[in-house]
Amino acid sequence: MIRRIAILGSTGSIGKKALRVIEALNSSLVALHRTPNGGGSSLEKEKTKYEIVALSAHSNVELLAEQARRYKPKFVAITNADYAGSLRELVGGLDVEILTGPDGLTEIAQLDEVDVVLTAVVGAAGLPAVLAAAQKGKTLAIANKEPLVIAGELLMEIAKENDSTILPVDSEHSAIFQAMQSGSAEEVSKIILTASGGPFREATVEDIQNVTRQQALSHPVWDMGPKITVDSATMMNKALEVIEAHWLFDMPVEKIEVLIHPESIVHSLVEFVDGSVIAQLGAPDMCLPIQYALTYPARVAGIAKHLRLDELGKLTFERPNLETFRVLSLGFEVARTGGTAAVVFNAANEAAVQEFLAGRIKFVNIVELIEQCLNKHNVKRRVSLEELLEADAWARREVKISLKRRAKSVKPKLKI
Ligand code: MG
Repeated sequence: MIRRIAILGSTGSIGKKALRVIEALNSSLVALHRTPNGGGSSLEKEKTKYEIVALSAHSNVELLAEQARRYKPKFVAITNADYAGSLRELVGGLDVEILTGPDGLTEIAQLDEVDVVLTAVVGAAGLPAVLAAAQKGKTLAIANKEPLVIAGELLMEIAKENDSTILPVDSEHSAIFQAMQSGSAEEVSKIILTASGGPFREATVEDIQNVTRQQALSHPVWDMGPKITVDSATMMNKALEVIEAHWLFDMPVEKIEVLIHPESIVHSLVEFVDGSVIAQLGAPDMCLPIQYALTYPARVAGIAKHLRLDELGKLTFERPNLETFRVLSLGFEVARTGGTAAVVFNAANEAAVQEFLAGRIKFVNIVELIEQCLNKHNVKRRVSLEELLEADAWARREVKISLKRRAKSVKPKLKI
């Protein structure tokens, strides 16, 4: 059996890990697969080969070219067309087709040669490609939150219509997805998303007033890209995951909870109506949820670290401080509101985090800007992709306008 894979965003943190996982799966002698229709009794032992058909990057041409040489995909896409020339030079001599611009991404997501699309593109950029893949009935392994946050309703609808399977790669959602297999959806009383709490877990509202970029970027457990690390410090990450879970599992917002778990060993839990709580535990290593999405419904030996619970000793849980992490309450509110609220929530955050990373605003301004933007927005329901992208662009503009207004209202200091 062959699974043909396209990785959208192969030069990012998840993309690089996915390539390592696939390489290990291919070299493993124990890659057994259960046929999806085989049921529990007829285990068909067959070695599955994972073929990398297409890779994409935004601008990191050097790494993309290196990956093309190593993994020999048939297609590579570079979404920033300015880099197309240098990519062409770098992959010269290789038998690979180069696609450019945002359309290139959508093209590889729809290729007949592809069965599984692993999407790990930061931000809203990958959205048209994800929807296109669902339309084509591909299996979608979703690592970034945006497709489900921004277009959850639309994506789940398209996936249902076209028999596209959506598999979560986000560690919490992978955990919930695994725990859900212990019962039926109707038997779930709530799902509990765990959060590490990030670097400011114990901070008060006063403590976070003047935190630096450096402090926000030093996450105690997970090693991730800068944008996601800041999202984890504000707990925007978890706010987005609440919305993501709401759509992915068709779960009412009232049945979703967030629990702080600093050790990041329990990746999330599902409580069933009888009071049983099923959790998924594992080392804090994205290789595991990536691999599970690729080998699902089978489990195979891989490169993810194994847990030593005796070494961990204890696992702790606490309630999140909703004053320090105000964005988390906003997330629940946005999930309840639905429509375009989530796209605005996400886009305003992306724009604000960019300003924070560039050193132009304070850490606490991030949530202020998001809230201002949400307050000004007129929520639309049952929207198309075009309308979602319009709301996305509106929110980004709105953040810029707010910042200009702020700059004007701050009086220049008089030189004496
Ligand atoms: Mg996560």
